[in-house]
Amino acid sequence: MAGDASEVKSRTDIIDIVSGYVRLKRAGNSFMGLCPFHKEKTPSFSVQPDRQTYHCFGCGKSGDAFTFIMEMESLGFREALAYLADRAGVQLSARGFGKPDKPVRDVRSALEEAKKFFCSSLEGPGGEAARAYLARRRIDPEEASRFGLGWAPQSWDALTNRLASLGFTEAAIEAGLAVKGDRGEYDRFRGRITFSVNDDNGRVVAFGGRLIDGEGAKYVNSPEGPLFNKRRVLYLMDSAKKAIRERGRVILVEGYMDAIRAHMAGFTETVASLGTSLAEEQAVLIKRFADLCYISYDADGAGQSAAIRGMYILQRQGVEVRVVMLPHGLDPDDLLSRDDGPAEFDSAVGRALPLPLYHVHIKKNELRTPGRAIAAREEILSGLASLSLLDVAEHIPKISRSFGILEHELKREIDARKREMKRTSAYDEKIKSANYEEGIEGFSNVYINKGQSEREKHALDLECAFCSLLWHDEGLRSRWDCGELGRFFSDEATRGIASALMSGDSPAELESRWREIGETVCFERLARGDAVVDGTGLRPEFAEKVLGDIRERALRRRYELLKPLVISGEAKPDQATEFRELAGKLKGRR
Ligand SMILES: [Zn+2]
Repeated sequence: MAGDASEVKSRTDIIDIVSGYVRLKRAGNSFMGLCPFHKEKTPSFSVQPDRQTYHCFGCGKSGDAFTFIMEMESLGFREALAYLADRAGVQLSARGFGKPDKPVRDVRSALEEAKKFFCSSLEGPGGEAARAYLARRRIDPEEASRFGLGWAPQSWDALTNRLASLGFTEAAIEAGLAVKGDRGEYDRFRGRITFSVNDDNGRVVAFGGRLIDGEGAKYVNSPEGPLFNKRRVLYLMDSAKKAIRERGRVILVEGYMDAIRAHMAGFTETVASLGTSLAEEQAVLIKRFADLCYISYDADGAGQSAAIRGMYILQRQGVEVRVVMLPHGLDPDDLLSRDDGPAEFDSAVGRALPLPLYHVHIKKNELRTPGRAIAAREEILSGLASLSLLDVAEHIPKISRSFGILEHELKREIDARKREMKRTSAYDEKIKSANYEEGIEGFSNVYINKGQSEREKHALDLECAFCSLLWHDEGLRSRWDCGELGRFFSDEATRGIASALMSGDSPAELESRWREIGETVCFERLARGDAVVDGTGLRPEFAEKVLGDIRERALRRRYELLKPLVISGEAKPDQATEFRELAGKLKGRR
């Protein structure tokens, strides 16, 4: 094992590893960035390429590539070794490493085999139609292979059989490549051009499939699974990240073909969000690589409000968002396919509007229409108020003219929204930071190190707050079924209070009963809940949300409990099933 570790270490560059999580800038002989282990605004986290170590001057954490991965991904040494070995292409000696992670490793192998299968199908005798389609789209075989395009034959079981012959029947289902039907497994992707979706380290995690003719959905994508969380993936990030760093900007498009076409035209800093609603995790991923993002989505109005929401999420991450508007209502793929396309695209990028002005621009007709102007103005104001003053200040003159009001009036309107948001979102923020500490993967894992007691404290705060809300608001008490809810509470006292109130006991009755038996804990819990409610400005309307959060925490606790069993292969079949279901449920949330 010592041999394995030094072999892996010699083939691993700590700068490369850390860059996956932290944006590093060169400073003399070392690199500096914001510490991933504590919250800070000025960089005190330093990485030394010569010694292959890191040290934080703020919190004092230090170590090497192994400890870094162990902390960031919450792994044990062996798992970290396996992870880094995989990345570095080192075959570990068999002893002790066969068992852990096998299910996940099989899923990875199944995906890689599938990619080989799709690529060779595209080149093989059955791939004529696909090759002809790509030729019509002006993608030659070299480009197809550069982007890992493939062809899923018009067959029900070609890939499934191929994977089964390699022993990957179960893994094929887990990977989303095969679907379990009444009469056995069959291929998910059939008669489609396939796009290999990679994580930012270039390992395939999913596929997209585009129909070339016949009936069916135009695009089919892999479902989420052990290796694929679509909120954390940006298409082509693995090939774009170098150019993004060099050019200091990222271009964000919507679809596979938009991204491929942009790369072919030399805009190699392009990634695709695969949909218009950018997730917070994707925004964090972008922020890791650049401070400036040009967004070029399809011109049509469908999904526009989701797109706008995503843009604000990104800008709030500290990435300056500029929105590219393409001429003649074309999408990037259409425009860039034309002979003069790249030049036109480039000049459209040059004319891109900062997010606040873009928002006003797309609402300009509504702003002029009586009856719709107020709603449009309100939407823009809440968007502006969610940004930092710095992001908005320079646009105040233009926006106030579009609104037909004076600059100081616009400022006052924004300030009022900001104050209102602060009041309602003090609670949201609290939930959000609490969620990060509870996070189950990736970015969020950083905060897991904050410790069990801190997380438990937050869980108890929420349960107490919920009890306080019920206590003071009779209308809330009959809204939920106490049997279903009680089991999500981790604390016996709060569970008791909530159940009693929801099954019809009045606060007065409870109070006198507690006094009689000398009960003190329940009073203590309610007082604590009142304090949380007061401190956060929490209002009864948010009770549903508090409850959702309490429930989610319970699911997460169960998830964390099962995780080591599943990873070590010790989980019983029903535990493994439960784990997968939990993972699915948790991923569906924020
Ligand atoms: Zn630190």
